[in-house]
Amino acid sequence: MQSFSLYIHYPFCKKLCNYCDFYKKTISAGQSYEELEKGLQTHFNSVLSLIEEKGAPSLGSIDTLYLGGGTPSLWGEEGAEFLGEFLKTNGLEFSNGHEFTMEVDPGAWTESGLRSWHKLGVNRYSIGLQSLNSDFIEIMDRSHDVGESLKTLKYFKDAGCNYSVDLMLGLPYSVERKRKIREEIDMAMDYRPSHFSVYILKTRKNYPHNDVLPDDTFTSEEYLEVSEILKSYGFDHYEVSNFALPGKYSEHNQKYWRAQTVHALGPNATGFFMFSSNQAVRYQHRPSNTGYSKEELNESELKLEQVYLGLRTNSGLDTRTHFRSSQVTEIVKKWNGLGYVHKFESGQLVLSSKGYLMIDSLMDDLFRFELL
Ligand code: SF4
Repeated sequence: MQSFSLYIHYPFCKKLCNYCDFYKKTISAGQSYEELEKGLQTHFNSVLSLIEEKGAPSLGSIDTLYLGGGTPSLWGEEGAEFLGEFLKTNGLEFSNGHEFTMEVDPGAWTESGLRSWHKLGVNRYSIGLQSLNSDFIEIMDRSHDVGESLKTLKYFKDAGCNYSVDLMLGLPYSVERKRKIREEIDMAMDYRPSHFSVYILKTRKNYPHNDVLPDDTFTSEEYLEVSEILKSYGFDHYEVSNFALPGKYSEHNQKYWRAQTVHALGPNATGFFMFSSNQAVRYQHRPSNTGYSKEELNESELKLEQVYLGLRTNSGLDTRTHFRSSQVTEIVKKWNGLGYVHKFESGQLVLSSKGYLMIDSLMDDLFRFELL
């Protein structure tokens, strides 16, 4: 038996934001959860079959669980009750010291709902603020307003919860309306979050505000400014898009970045299953509950993945296990001159915040060399 991590996808939202690429639907009045609940059981059975097919040890207790979406805080008491039963029926228990994170959107939760989730074992929350400026909240088509965001922050602060907030950068009209990201972060800090996830907006061709997006120079400066501000508040920039106070890193997300197994349930949810020391499978459940697609990763594909993931975090990449040291030394010297390297000691390479920003082109540089 092996303890494991699990992601569960709840696909409903109050309103669909105009930039969102996640699998989601608008919730209706009196929404029925029958299809979702049946689907979760079907998906769990598929995961069990996959484990058996690969001859891997059976599932033990849950180390980390992440309930994402969509807007899972809309699931309320009914969801907590269902999930409690679901875990029990399937013989699943939490490990000691587990981490159970739930995404919460401002204006999409009730106190009684959150109390039920807490009772079930939720001990970490991720709040979808995105911005604390009403102009930008409106431009993003979010369903909440800044008043609801502040009410949500106050609730979690007063309850003494461990929680993270999401912010988005590179928003439309940032230049024209002079977005002041420092003011937004200072405002959020009054409520003592322990973690920030900060994403740069990526848009599709048909995004309605493509012609008023800031240019790359603006967005890069904004990202580096956020990194400096959060570091000045004592946060570690521990992954490309994530900042945390010491001891408050996301355990669940670190499993992804270490290329460890994270199973997944829910429509379109993607799981990653390391079934031996050098083989893995990535699978994605179809939304219609008609099975899943999968991609097998062989040893060399896994190595590529490990290099990329290693460079994303402040644990860094052990370059000696992947590249010839003469090649790496030469390239790290060049990167260091450009300010992309935080640390390079005994072959362990950690990028700086500026390096994180350039990670894709740094990967291209690295992959000119053959992997060992
Ligand atoms: S609330 Fe989140 S998941 Fe729902 S549409 Fe907006 S960004 Fe997407």
